[in-house]
Amino acid sequence: MQNFICVQCGTQFGATAEPPPRCTICDDERQFVRYGGQEWTTLDRLATDHHNRFEDEAPQLLGIGTEPEFAIGQRAMLLQSPGGNLLWDCISLLDEKTIAEVNVRGDIRAIAISHPHFYSSLVEWADHFDAQIFLHAADRQWAMRESPRIQFWEGTTLSLWDGLTLINCGGHFEGGTVLHWPAASRDRGSKGALLTGDIITVVQDRRYVSFMRSYPNLIPLGPAAIHQILERIEPFAFDQIYGGWWNASVLSDAKAAVTRSADRYLRAIRL
Ligand SMILES: [Zn+2]
Ligand SMILES: [Zn+2]
Repeated sequence: MQNFICVQCGTQFGATAEPPPRCTICDDERQFVRYGGQEWTTLDRLATDHHNRFEDEAPQLLGIGTEPEFAIGQRAMLLQSPGGNLLWDCISLLDEKTIAEVNVRGDIRAIAISHPHFYSSLVEWADHFDAQIFLHAADRQWAMRESPRIQFWEGTTLSLWDGLTLINCGGHFEGGTVLHWPAASRDRGSKGALLTGDIITVVQDRRYVSFMRSYPNLIPLGPAAIHQILERIEPFAFDQIYGGWWNASVLSDAKAAVTRSADRYLRAIRL
């Protein structure tokens, strides 16, 4: 029995003798099956020709991404906080070097994920570090590997520790979640940060963000979804956004960037 990993989206599945016939996440209209057809790998096989790169995104915020790029090419972030470290989003590859880099910074208390495209090998990570997992209940159907460590939380916010708050924004996925980190770069005068995956995605012009039901298939969201995202983040102070990929951050005036981006988006989709 093996936990097969989809090569296109990086999701690790529950143990089976043979690779699953299809990937549920890639079959969804928000993803796609690659040109060459469905392919699978395993964690052991992935580790033979891939490694992880570690880079500080900010003080107490370590980016962890896989090279050469794998699946959707995201990077996870290890947020180091006095009450315990949180792994925000996840990647498929967990290897010895990665375990050592995390351990130097003091373990992982919990893993929280923005949405199913970043679930990757979350159970593998949680088992290794004896961590709890927080996923929004609205995306329960997309959790492909079951674990008693997963807490499917409900409602619009969930308070963790040290002021960390999960905020359900919806949009790209119904359970789409962002993380508010009030202590981000506080000693540098920051008001706080949002870690967003692609629930609020940082675009090439980093004065702006955007919001889509599907990024690869270019399916936009409607006005109700955009307004809900704005309403859900409104109570939280932040001036930085860390998106789901390397070099995808808005490092100042981020709340205004969300507002101006939403205004532009709503103008563009006006019927
Ligand atoms: Zn897939
Ligand atoms: Zn996504």
